[in-house]
Amino acid sequence: MRYISTRGQSAPQSFCDILLGGLAPDGGLYLPESYPQVSRADLDAWRGLSYAELAYAILSRFIDDIPAADLKAICDKTYTEEVFGTPQITPVRALEGGLNIEGLSNGPTIAFKDMAMQLLGNLFEYVLDKRGQEINILGATSGDTGSAAEYAMRGKRGVRVFMLSPHGRMSAFQRAQMYSLQDDNIYNIAVRGMFDDAQDVVKAVSNDHAFKAQYKIGAVNSINWARVAAQIVYYFKGYFAATESNDQQVSFVVPSGNFGNICAGHIARMMGLPVAQLILATNENDVLDEFFRTGVYRPRNTAETHATSSPSMDISKASNFERFVFDLVGRSGDTVRALWSKVDAGGAFDLSASPEFAAIGQFGFVSGSSNHAARLATIRKADADYATVIDTHTADGLKVALELRDPAVPTLVLETAQPAKFEETIAEALGRKPARPAGLDNIEALPQRVEVMDVDVAAIKALIVRTVDGV
Ligand SMILES: *Cc1c(COP(=O)(O)O)cnc(C)c1O
Repeated sequence: MRYISTRGQSAPQSFCDILLGGLAPDGGLYLPESYPQVSRADLDAWRGLSYAELAYAILSRFIDDIPAADLKAICDKTYTEEVFGTPQITPVRALEGGLNIEGLSNGPTIAFKDMAMQLLGNLFEYVLDKRGQEINILGATSGDTGSAAEYAMRGKRGVRVFMLSPHGRMSAFQRAQMYSLQDDNIYNIAVRGMFDDAQDVVKAVSNDHAFKAQYKIGAVNSINWARVAAQIVYYFKGYFAATESNDQQVSFVVPSGNFGNICAGHIARMMGLPVAQLILATNENDVLDEFFRTGVYRPRNTAETHATSSPSMDISKASNFERFVFDLVGRSGDTVRALWSKVDAGGAFDLSASPEFAAIGQFGFVSGSSNHAARLATIRKADADYATVIDTHTADGLKVALELRDPAVPTLVLETAQPAKFEETIAEALGRKPARPAGLDNIEALPQRVEVMDVDVAAIKALIVRTVDGV
């Protein structure tokens, strides 16, 4: 299996070669040169597998440069009840006839990013060890991604994590989750600024190519192919849980921001998983909903990006969307390059009159959006009608599911976080705080390890140098 760039101008690579990197050299995103096809016999053989077995069965179709026994051991070590709280890993619960929730947020940081990031931590450690290399992951976070990365990489040989967060802007719970980690290889840096300032520091450091090479700076952002690949597994798992036979179809509802989660659903469907619809749900930041309704992709600027009560979906542009558009335009790197020359210059593109957009129905996407009032109402409805408390992102999914689903098709709403992570908004909706998972009761009281710094690229580079060189 070789990986090619969506912009068509980078040499094909193997899985392990793209594992530690980010964008392809031509600025595109990596995708497999073709999607492995899943037969009816495969589905029959896979229906009874455990999550870890299924992960191996699927990932081995994408990864041919890690020996089978090693890849199997990595899957077994990653997807355990100990890490994910239940033997099913992604338990499915019914709300009403044909409408279900698939729980993806039972990992250590109680949001779905653990599903992929935990695998990434074990893959990184394995590949770095084999190659005798190390990596210094530098990232900026406003919450979920940073904590998922830290919990995945803590204690891993060959890996250090330098994570920048906006000082005083995360919730007390989010701060406690990250800053209470005491592992030697985790460095929390709170910068006196906003998330965008932290992000700008990361970009500035990464654009210093000599520094980046000397200090082996890497990233684990949402465009990482291995993260997308890992997420394909729970679409298959959810399909088996919500159906009785492989003759049936299902639909998935996906609370979306950077298009990483639903991109995995798209690939599962392209592989042959019987998916009727992929229902994309956005919050007030509806750049993706707009595209699927109109054919116009218009990334927003910072001023147009709303701070909402489903903050992990507050995006101005959807970094993984380029992967879907590559398939939509018949895998033409030239076309993608032309479209993204507009996006990268701060503009938009319009496919509304194109034959490709006219044929978009073949990909199964439909979309809708939510807002704060609808979010509160949906959290109340889930509590009253289904006796379940859902988080604000999942509520955006359920809101759109109730509007758009076909009641004849079993539907799975992906639960992307647990309500405890966003307890202020749950309290606003229900008048009470949600229960916290065991072990997180009092994490705000744990000792914290964080360095508060100015938004100063040179100072942050100096901290990395001191740490890596041990001076
Ligand atoms: C990251 C995140 C999302 C959005 O997922 P994408 O892959 O960016 O579309 C939704 N909900 C939660 C809780 C998240 O952390």
